[in-house]
Amino acid sequence: MLHTDTLAEAPRQPQADTGPDDGFLPEEFRHFADDPESITARAARRFGVPATSFINWRWQMRHQVGNAEQALARLALSASEEDGFKLLADAFVSGVTPYYLALMDQDPSKSCPVRLQGLPRREELNVRVGVKDPLDEVPHSPVKEVVQVYPDRVAFCVAQLCPVYCRYCFRKRRDEEDGLHFNRRIVDRGIAYIASNPAIRDVLITGGDPFIASDEAIDNLLSRIRAIPHVEIIRFGTRTPVTLPYRVTARLAKILAKYHPVWLNTHFNCAEEITPEAAQAVANLVDHGIPVGNQSVLLRGVNDTTERHIKLLRELLKIRVRPYYLFHPHLIEGTEHLRVPVDAGLRLMKSLRGNITGLGIPTYIVDTPSGKVPMMPNHVLGTDGEDLLLEDVRGQIWREKSALNP
Ligand code: SF4
Repeated sequence: MLHTDTLAEAPRQPQADTGPDDGFLPEEFRHFADDPESITARAARRFGVPATSFINWRWQMRHQVGNAEQALARLALSASEEDGFKLLADAFVSGVTPYYLALMDQDPSKSCPVRLQGLPRREELNVRVGVKDPLDEVPHSPVKEVVQVYPDRVAFCVAQLCPVYCRYCFRKRRDEEDGLHFNRRIVDRGIAYIASNPAIRDVLITGGDPFIASDEAIDNLLSRIRAIPHVEIIRFGTRTPVTLPYRVTARLAKILAKYHPVWLNTHFNCAEEITPEAAQAVANLVDHGIPVGNQSVLLRGVNDTTERHIKLLRELLKIRVRPYYLFHPHLIEGTEHLRVPVDAGLRLMKSLRGNITGLGIPTYIVDTPSGKVPMMPNHVLGTDGEDLLLEDVRGQIWREKSALNP
């Protein structure tokens, strides 16, 4: 039995028992349950449960769809997806929340960006260049589950469970280990490491998904980190606004806000994920003063065209999420069908400039074991005397006079 109410050791399971439903109804999500046309109410009917159960995040975790039989009870599967569930059972855990499943196109013959991210596919068995740990995180871990690449900051991987097991996750390797989720010994060691290294100013709490724990466990973790005098900012990496918005309650946001400055990055990859429910989750955070940024991964069939990407970015700005990074896909095994060539990524980035406010343009990043490398479309054509020759956003040449000797 897995309980995330405490910092107890816990195995990772797709059908995790996350504790009692406790009758908690997040009031700010209640109107979705009451509106028969909302995504929430329609999905609850499909799952045959009261919508008031559907908005309970613990119910969602307990009813993760984790195998072909469970998926087929709710959704037609393509042959590739059905094989994926069966053939990959020992390779990488499968699991999606009922909420996220409800965002999927019901026709398996259509290319659906949500299905591509959440459902296993036969193609994952084709491994040509992918590896288990593309960022060499294991050798960059001074203590287990603390990853340090830069002197001033660490990623503190306290969680192992996720509402959805994204098929391209670069931490798939953690799936093979047991008992990482909010493991008390690992958390204690991580806190001790951070406390004994005064150069660390910035702690990124990540996982897995660190919001898959009780409010009390998160509160306790934050209070311990905030008690370290040299930690200036605390950041979270969580996909719950996308995959399990009901988890991001005003009550949780209020707890986070006790430990400001707290920043948060989430991970929307396509406009289909930006629902009124997701917008509510983000509003709960932003209204408590927690800035929300977005880190996408460039994925074939999900967000690799200008049209799809601009739609995503516009929708993010509308719900007050700042696009932050667009990651070139990590070289992780089982993801080659989702990878996009880097020149296509650069062309995509170039196509954004001039078509959306700069506030909405993320930095395109190739993530390496020694840090993030920004990739910029080149607008500098050369020099002519003291003048700089640039290609402007319309593709025309601009001469910036005396730029070299102002
Ligand atoms: S939510 Fe994040 S950690 Fe979890 S599977 Fe998806 S990408 Fe990986």
